[in-house]
Amino acid sequence: MTFDVSTLAGRLAAVRASMADACRQAGRDPAEVVLLPVSKTFGVDIVREAVGLGLRRFGENKAQEIQAKATALAGENLEWVVIGHLQTNKAKVVATYASEVQSLDRPDLAVALDKALQARGRAIDVLVQVKTSPEETKSGISPADLLPFLDELKAFHSLRLRGLMTLAEASEDEERVRACFRTLYRLRDRAREAGHAVDRLSMGMSGDYALAIAEGSTELRIGSAIFGARSYKV
Ligand SMILES: *Cc1c(COP(=O)(O)O)cnc(C)c1O
Repeated sequence: MTFDVSTLAGRLAAVRASMADACRQAGRDPAEVVLLPVSKTFGVDIVREAVGLGLRRFGENKAQEIQAKATALAGENLEWVVIGHLQTNKAKVVATYASEVQSLDRPDLAVALDKALQARGRAIDVLVQVKTSPEETKSGISPADLLPFLDELKAFHSLRLRGLMTLAEASEDEERVRACFRTLYRLRDRAREAGHAVDRLSMGMSGDYALAIAEGSTELRIGSAIFGARSYKV
Protein backbone atom coordinates (compact mmCIF):
# COMPACT_ATOMS: atom_id res chain seq x y z
CA MET A 1 0.00 0.00 0.00
CA THR A 2 1.34 3.44 -0.87
CA PHE A 3 0.31 6.76 0.61
CA ASP A 4 0.39 10.29 -0.71
CA VAL A 5 2.57 11.76 2.00
CA SER A 6 2.26 15.25 0.52
CA THR A 7 -1.12 15.47 2.30
CA LEU A 8 -2.10 15.35 5.95
CA ALA A 9 -4.57 12.56 5.21
CA GLY A 10 -1.86 10.53 3.47
CA ARG A 11 0.66 10.95 6.29
CA LEU A 12 -1.94 10.05 8.90
CA ALA A 13 -2.89 6.91 6.97
CA ALA A 14 0.79 5.99 6.57
CA VAL A 15 1.41 6.37 10.32
CA ARG A 16 -1.65 4.27 11.13
CA ALA A 17 -0.53 1.55 8.72
CA SER A 18 2.95 1.48 10.17
CA MET A 19 1.57 1.38 13.72
CA ALA A 20 -0.50 -1.64 12.69
CA ASP A 21 2.60 -3.27 11.17
CA ALA A 22 4.62 -2.69 14.33
CA CYS A 23 1.78 -4.19 16.40
CA ARG A 24 1.68 -7.27 14.19
CA GLN A 25 5.44 -7.70 14.47
CA ALA A 26 5.26 -7.35 18.23
CA GLY A 27 2.32 -9.77 18.44
CA ARG A 28 0.10 -7.05 19.88
CA ASP A 29 -3.50 -6.09 19.21
CA PRO A 30 -3.53 -2.70 17.40
CA ALA A 31 -6.56 -1.74 19.50
CA GLU A 32 -4.25 -1.58 22.54
CA VAL A 33 -2.20 1.26 21.08
CA VAL A 34 -3.69 4.75 20.84
CA LEU A 35 -2.40 7.57 18.66
CA LEU A 36 -2.08 11.04 20.20
CA PRO A 37 -1.42 13.48 17.35
CA VAL A 38 0.92 16.28 18.48
CA SER A 39 -0.13 19.55 16.85
CA LYS A 40 2.30 21.91 18.64
CA THR A 41 3.50 24.80 16.45
CA PHE A 42 0.87 24.05 13.78
CA GLY A 43 -1.89 26.59 13.35
CA VAL A 44 -5.62 26.43 13.75
CA ASP A 45 -6.22 25.78 10.05
CA ILE A 46 -4.11 22.64 10.11
CA VAL A 47 -5.74 21.43 13.31
CA ARG A 48 -9.12 22.04 11.68
CA GLU A 49 -8.03 19.92 8.71
CA ALA A 50 -7.02 17.18 11.17
CA VAL A 51 -10.42 17.45 12.86
CA GLY A 52 -11.96 16.92 9.44
CA LEU A 53 -10.01 13.64 9.27
CA GLY A 54 -11.59 12.49 12.51
CA LEU A 55 -8.94 13.52 15.06
CA ARG A 56 -10.39 14.98 18.27
CA ARG A 57 -7.59 14.85 20.80
CA PHE A 58 -4.34 16.77 20.39
CA GLY A 59 -1.04 16.92 22.24
CA GLU A 60 0.48 20.36 22.85
CA ASN A 61 3.43 21.45 24.92
CA LYS A 62 2.53 25.06 25.76
CA ALA A 63 -0.39 26.25 27.86
CA GLN A 64 -0.80 29.43 25.80
CA GLU A 65 -0.98 27.50 22.58
CA ILE A 66 -3.71 25.28 24.03
CA GLN A 67 -5.61 28.36 25.14
CA ALA A 68 -5.39 29.94 21.68
CA LYS A 69 -6.37 26.80 19.79
CA ALA A 70 -9.09 25.74 22.23
CA THR A 71 -10.61 29.21 21.98
CA ALA A 72 -10.46 29.33 18.20
CA LEU A 73 -11.92 25.82 17.89
CA ALA A 74 -14.35 26.05 20.81
CA GLY A 75 -17.29 24.69 18.84
CA GLU A 76 -15.50 21.47 17.91
CA ASN A 77 -15.54 19.77 21.31
CA LEU A 78 -11.86 18.78 21.17
CA GLU A 79 -9.58 17.46 23.90
CA TRP A 80 -6.24 19.13 24.61
CA VAL A 81 -3.47 17.15 26.21
CA VAL A 82 -0.44 18.81 27.81
CA ILE A 83 2.74 16.89 27.03
CA GLY A 84 5.41 19.55 27.69
CA HIS A 85 7.16 20.81 30.79
CA LEU A 86 4.74 23.01 32.74
CA GLN A 87 5.48 25.91 35.04
CA THR A 88 3.16 26.15 38.03
CA ASN A 89 2.06 29.63 36.95
CA LYS A 90 0.36 28.00 33.94
CA ALA A 91 -1.88 25.85 36.16
CA LYS A 92 -4.95 28.07 35.73
CA VAL A 93 -4.78 28.05 31.95
CA VAL A 94 -4.31 24.29 31.93
CA ALA A 95 -7.14 23.80 34.43
CA THR A 96 -9.41 25.83 32.17
CA TYR A 97 -8.60 24.34 28.77
CA ALA A 98 -6.85 20.97 29.04
CA SER A 99 -8.51 17.60 29.44
CA GLU A 100 -5.34 15.83 30.46
CA VAL A 101 -1.74 16.40 31.54
CA GLN A 102 0.90 13.81 30.65
CA SER A 103 3.85 15.81 31.96
CA LEU A 104 3.07 15.87 35.67
CA ASP A 105 6.52 15.56 37.21
CA ARG A 106 6.63 17.16 40.65
CA PRO A 107 4.62 17.85 43.79
CA ASP A 108 4.37 21.64 43.46
CA LEU A 109 2.80 21.25 40.02
CA ALA A 110 0.29 18.74 41.42
CA VAL A 111 -0.62 21.20 44.18
CA ALA A 112 -1.09 24.08 41.73
CA LEU A 113 -3.11 22.04 39.23
CA ASP A 114 -5.35 20.50 41.86
CA LYS A 115 -6.10 23.88 43.38
CA ALA A 116 -6.88 25.48 40.01
CA LEU A 117 -9.07 22.54 38.99
CA GLN A 118 -11.01 22.57 42.24
CA ALA A 119 -11.69 26.27 41.81
CA ARG A 120 -13.25 25.41 38.44
CA GLY A 121 -15.09 22.30 39.62
CA ARG A 122 -13.14 20.13 37.20
CA ALA A 123 -11.03 16.96 37.34
CA ILE A 124 -8.58 15.79 34.68
CA ASP A 125 -6.63 12.66 33.83
CA VAL A 126 -2.91 12.75 34.53
CA LEU A 127 0.10 10.70 33.57
CA VAL A 128 3.31 11.08 35.53
CA GLN A 129 6.35 11.85 33.42
CA VAL A 130 9.40 9.84 34.39
CA LYS A 131 12.96 10.67 33.42
CA THR A 132 14.26 7.43 31.92
CA SER A 133 17.00 8.96 29.80
CA PRO A 134 20.33 10.27 31.08
CA GLU A 135 20.07 13.44 28.96
CA GLU A 136 20.06 16.68 30.96
CA THR A 137 17.47 18.23 28.66
CA LYS A 138 14.77 15.67 29.45
CA SER A 139 12.46 16.39 32.36
CA GLY A 140 10.48 14.00 34.54
CA ILE A 141 10.56 12.60 38.03
CA SER A 142 13.42 10.23 38.76
CA PRO A 143 12.50 6.53 38.92
CA ALA A 144 13.52 6.42 42.59
CA ASP A 145 11.03 9.17 43.48
CA LEU A 146 8.11 7.78 41.48
CA LEU A 147 6.35 5.55 44.03
CA PRO A 148 6.35 8.13 46.85
CA PHE A 149 5.04 10.71 44.37
CA LEU A 150 2.22 8.39 43.28
CA ASP A 151 1.27 8.00 46.94
CA GLU A 152 1.19 11.78 47.35
CA LEU A 153 -1.11 12.13 44.35
CA LYS A 154 -3.89 10.28 46.18
CA ALA A 155 -4.53 13.46 48.15
CA PHE A 156 -5.35 15.45 45.00
CA HIS A 157 -8.93 14.63 44.12
CA SER A 158 -8.99 16.63 40.89
CA LEU A 159 -6.08 14.64 39.43
CA ARG A 160 -7.04 11.16 38.21
CA LEU A 161 -3.90 9.09 37.86
CA ARG A 162 -4.03 7.00 34.68
CA GLY A 163 -0.46 6.05 33.81
CA LEU A 164 3.12 7.00 33.09
CA MET A 165 4.84 8.92 30.32
CA THR A 166 8.42 9.19 29.13
CA LEU A 167 10.64 10.47 26.36
CA ALA A 168 13.35 8.05 25.30
CA GLU A 169 16.93 9.08 24.79
CA ALA A 170 17.53 10.63 21.37
CA SER A 171 20.06 8.07 20.14
CA GLU A 172 20.93 6.15 17.01
CA ASP A 173 21.49 3.15 19.23
CA GLU A 174 18.21 1.21 19.38
CA GLU A 175 19.22 -0.51 22.58
CA ARG A 176 19.56 2.80 24.40
CA VAL A 177 16.13 3.88 23.19
CA ARG A 178 14.56 0.55 24.15
CA ALA A 179 16.19 0.71 27.58
CA CYS A 180 14.21 3.88 28.35
CA PHE A 181 10.93 2.29 27.31
CA ARG A 182 11.73 -0.83 29.33
CA THR A 183 12.44 1.24 32.40
CA LEU A 184 8.98 2.80 32.16
CA TYR A 185 7.36 -0.59 31.60
CA ARG A 186 9.01 -2.04 34.69
CA LEU A 187 8.10 1.01 36.75
CA ARG A 188 4.49 0.47 35.80
CA ASP A 189 4.68 -3.10 37.13
CA ARG A 190 6.07 -1.81 40.41
CA ALA A 191 3.46 0.93 40.63
CA ARG A 192 0.70 -1.61 40.01
CA GLU A 193 2.07 -3.90 42.69
CA ALA A 194 1.90 -0.91 45.02
CA GLY A 195 -1.79 -0.56 44.17
CA HIS A 196 -1.74 2.36 41.72
CA ALA A 197 -4.07 2.50 38.71
CA VAL A 198 -1.49 3.11 36.02
CA ASP A 199 -2.69 1.25 32.94
CA ARG A 200 -1.49 3.72 30.35
CA LEU A 201 2.09 3.98 29.10
CA SER A 202 2.61 7.03 26.88
CA MET A 203 5.88 6.41 25.08
CA GLY A 204 7.03 6.65 21.48
CA MET A 205 7.28 9.60 19.06
CA SER A 206 7.79 9.96 15.29
CA GLY A 207 11.33 8.60 15.35
CA ASP A 208 10.96 5.72 17.78
CA TYR A 209 7.35 4.56 17.90
CA ALA A 210 7.93 1.10 16.43
CA LEU A 211 10.39 0.38 19.24
CA ALA A 212 7.93 1.78 21.78
CA ILE A 213 5.21 -0.55 20.52
CA ALA A 214 7.60 -3.49 20.82
CA GLU A 215 8.30 -2.46 24.42
CA GLY A 216 4.67 -2.22 25.46
CA SER A 217 3.53 1.34 24.76
CA THR A 218 -0.21 1.99 24.90
CA GLU A 219 -0.04 5.51 23.51
CA LEU A 220 2.16 7.17 20.89
CA ARG A 221 2.67 10.94 20.79
CA ILE A 222 3.31 11.64 17.13
CA GLY A 223 3.90 15.08 15.69
CA SER A 224 6.18 15.49 12.69
CA ALA A 225 5.33 12.16 11.03
CA ILE A 226 1.73 13.39 10.77
CA PHE A 227 1.93 17.17 10.54
CA GLY A 228 5.33 17.54 8.87
CA ALA A 229 8.52 19.23 10.04
CA ARG A 230 8.04 22.00 12.59
CA SER A 231 9.20 25.39 11.40
CA TYR A 232 10.64 26.38 14.76
CA LYS A 233 12.15 24.54 17.63
CA VAL A 234 10.15 24.19 20.83
C1 LIG B 1 6.97 17.29 20.27
C2 LIG B 1 6.75 16.14 21.17
C3 LIG B 1 6.38 14.89 20.66
C4 LIG B 1 6.23 14.60 19.20
O1 LIG B 1 7.47 14.63 18.57
P1 LIG B 1 7.67 14.15 17.05
O2 LIG B 1 9.07 13.72 17.02
O3 LIG B 1 7.37 15.33 16.20
O4 LIG B 1 6.71 13.04 16.82
C5 LIG B 1 6.15 13.87 21.57
N1 LIG B 1 6.27 14.06 22.90
C6 LIG B 1 6.62 15.25 23.43
C7 LIG B 1 6.74 15.39 24.89
C8 LIG B 1 6.87 16.32 22.58
O5 LIG B 1 7.23 17.51 23.11
